Amino acid sequence: MRTLTVPSTTPATIAPVSPGRQALDTALFQLGQAADRLDLDDSLRAMLATPRRSLTVSVPVRREDGRMDVVQGFRVQHNITRGPAKGGIRFHPRTDVHEVTALAMGMTWKCALAGIPYGGAQGGVSVDPASLSTRELERVTRRYVNEVLPIVGPERDVPAPEVGADRRTMAWIMDTYSVNAGYPLPGVTTGGSTTSGCAPERAEATARGVRFATLRAMCGSPEGRTVAIQGFGKVGAPTARHLADAGALVVAVSDSTGAVVNRSGLDVDGLRAWSKETGGVRGYREADPLSHDDLLELDVDVLVPAALEGAITEQNAPRIRAGLIVEGASCPTTPGADRVLADAGITVVPDILANAGGVIVSYLEWLQEAQARSWSAREVDARLRGLVENAFDTVAAVSAEGGITLRQAAHVIGVGRVAEAHRSRGL
Ligand code: NAD
Repeated sequence: MRTLTVPSTTPATIAPVSPGRQALDTALFQLGQAADRLDLDDSLRAMLATPRRSLTVSVPVRREDGRMDVVQGFRVQHNITRGPAKGGIRFHPRTDVHEVTALAMGMTWKCALAGIPYGGAQGGVSVDPASLSTRELERVTRRYVNEVLPIVGPERDVPAPEVGADRRTMAWIMDTYSVNAGYPLPGVTTGGSTTSGCAPERAEATARGVRFATLRAMCGSPEGRTVAIQGFGKVGAPTARHLADAGALVVAVSDSTGAVVNRSGLDVDGLRAWSKETGGVRGYREADPLSHDDLLELDVDVLVPAALEGAITEQNAPRIRAGLIVEGASCPTTPGADRVLADAGITVVPDILANAGGVIVSYLEWLQEAQARSWSAREVDARLRGLVENAFDTVAAVSAEGGITLRQAAHVIGVGRVAEAHRSRGL
């Protein structure tokens, strides 16, 4: 039998590996560090390092011109010991099974850290949604759902939109699932439209969580502090709005089209309108252009990576001048970069803490459904804030007590809770 080993030292870079493989190496490294600290035995380490279920499917796409392409799709359920699996669905050309496994693993620790009764999952389709017409994208989504249908569902595994997916994607998923079931099942996704049964608060929940985590890390005084945000999608754009509302000065933003800077503060709503109209932030007239790399290295108080994995590496980390990094994205910092940032005294609020807002509001959505109740947006926000701040304070206390980084502390808590659930269930 092949046994998976969990490394507890920084993964060596011997040959170039895919970004997805790098993300998985990072996830296994972080698990290994937490497992060492928790003194977990080898069998439990192997269990936690291995996804419970991993499904790879072929998704044929009939193009508008009649051609047939085939892309790969994935759904990985990393762990379901603490509850049904929960996790995003991503449409991106470089998505592979390693990336999806890494993100599913992060989701397991995130739910445990937030104290919500879900396991971790992630799905993905290796396609660029921008290269497809709306009808092609709908066909890919529906076919992907049909292929992964045996393992998803309201009681088993509930998807939400992630990179390259949105409310419309969730509506197609809900409809395809419901047609197969023979009756409407709005609970099959979260983060969809209100007409497909999802709470309106979910759309900006991840960004609200990033805001609460940022303010906690700043001890609540954001006025006039400067912020740069990498990524201007479902997480980055509303994060810019919420941090500006809190009094911070959002001076730079990037997306895949380019980066822009205005040291007096960007007009976030103006930039959102420009981006919607032109397809990206590039060329925004009320700001100066900037390179992608320069955005990460700006002299700002706070840097929010909110794009893809591996943005902050051992190479660019020494040039980062922000005093605080709040990870809106999943896995944006490599272990080598983490070491450099810690040595430089830069605080990093880790992804599994900073971007937990989305899954927390999904849980609140599910609670309301289960109790046939409806909370106001204000009540949902207050509960979200309470859960994020509580998780933040617990992580900060473990970090201070153990002399470890916030990331290490967050993993010790998340991994520790899942390990405890395994033990208590006798697995
Ligand atoms: P999205 O597709 O809505 O947005 C991604 C953004 O990143 C886009 O603006 C894109 O142009 C930009 N981008 C891509 N490559 C870039 C680059 N090289 N430089 C700068 N910008 C670049 O995706 P999203 O849902 O906002 O997710 C972003 C990150 O947040 C991902 O890491 C995801 O795992 C994480 N996350 C999302 C959620 C959620 O609720 N959507 C929850 C938790 C974590």
